[in-house]
Amino acid sequence: MWACDNCRTSLCEVAFGVHAEPAADGPQVSWLAMAVRCVECGRCAGVTDVVVPALPLAEVGRAI
Ligand SMILES: [Zn+2]
Repeated sequence: MWACDNCRTSLCEVAFGVHAEPAADGPQVSWLAMAVRCVECGRCAGVTDVVVPALPLAEVGRAI
């Protein structure tokens, strides 16, 4: 189980961001970013991003 390194709280917020470009069969995602932040003290516990090969935005939304 995750716990904040600063205050040991086990609750966090997870935020996702995507870059999507229009395509004939719907927006395609080419980049994803994710960040985790402690809800108690606000400390950012991690952020990462990844380049992905043209994933349909609707599929990415369902998976998140
Ligand atoms: Zn914390």
